[in-house]
Amino acid sequence: RGKRAFIAGVADDNGYGWAIAKALAAAGAEILVGTWVPALNIFETSLRRGKFDESRKLPNGSLMEISKIYPLDAVFDSPEDVPEDIKTNKRYAGSSNWTVKETAEVVKNDFGTIDILVHSLANGPEVSRPLLETSRKGYLAAISASSYSFVSLLQHFLPIMNPGGATLSLTYIASERTIPGYGGGMSSAKAALESDTRVLAFEAGRKASIRVNTISAGPLGSRAAKAIGFIDKMIDYSYANAPVQKELSADEVGNAAAFLVSPLASAVTGTVVYVDNGLHTMGIAI
Ligand code: NAD
Repeated sequence: RGKRAFIAGVADDNGYGWAIAKALAAAGAEILVGTWVPALNIFETSLRRGKFDESRKLPNGSLMEISKIYPLDAVFDSPEDVPEDIKTNKRYAGSSNWTVKETAEVVKNDFGTIDILVHSLANGPEVSRPLLETSRKGYLAAISASSYSFVSLLQHFLPIMNPGGATLSLTYIASERTIPGYGGGMSSAKAALESDTRVLAFEAGRKASIRVNTISAGPLGSRAAKAIGFIDKMIDYSYANAPVQKELSADEVGNAAAFLVSPLASAVTGTVVYVDNGLHTMGIAI
């Protein structure tokens, strides 16, 4: 039987989530995605109208199929957590069952089990503010959307994951080296995500034979990255200073992800794997 993957954090064809979905589809997996509720409409419409057909092409010439798109807001665990203004917001009102707990329940009803869980989402409302100017609210929002969201997804999906399965998230080197401009507590959120990768690898490994890894990815001009504001500078910096001097494509991260969640990586868990043309190894820019 082919493997089934749930990929949280796909809302267009530019980001790492999309590239991971493609790499897993190319390897024969069935693809389910979780799309942030406010982005759902435009994503579904674009997909239906063929806007992504060019980028849906797999190496064998066929088009990636997404079996089902689930609305998801990973900052809410269950309906009791959703505040009134979100409930009544018209971008949310058209969808249902989008808290993490409900999403896992619907996936269970639809498909029974999954083998692969991918977390490719982050959000930090104050990302453009230095940490020294970040509010408590902004900092906690960054942690909630970017770190706890993975803990919550794993909590709720673990019971429907087949033993031997694997999970993966995406992190950034700002967790361990200072990257001015990656503010709002996002650097803190990535540090938490990486630490949680180790602890959750132990817990999910012992409890359910599930692996937990994270990819520390180099810079990509995704929608989220463009919102931060200095992504072009980071891409140029990486090109100029990384050991391998080439642009980093989302597909390279997708391929590494496919390896990490596959049986080829059956003994790899609790790790941060760099997919960044080697930039993390450099001590100075030359
Ligand atoms: P992206 O815009 O493709 O993906 C981010 C996704 O998160 C979007 O689809 C957005 O709708 C979704 N999202 C935001 N808040 C959400 C919520 N509360 N619930 C559900 N979904 C939510 O951008 P990307 O850069 O590909 O980001 C994917 C991951 O890669 C993130 O974890 C990011 O930090 C990480 N990453 C990106 C870079 C880069 O340079 N782009 C580098 C290293 C790591």
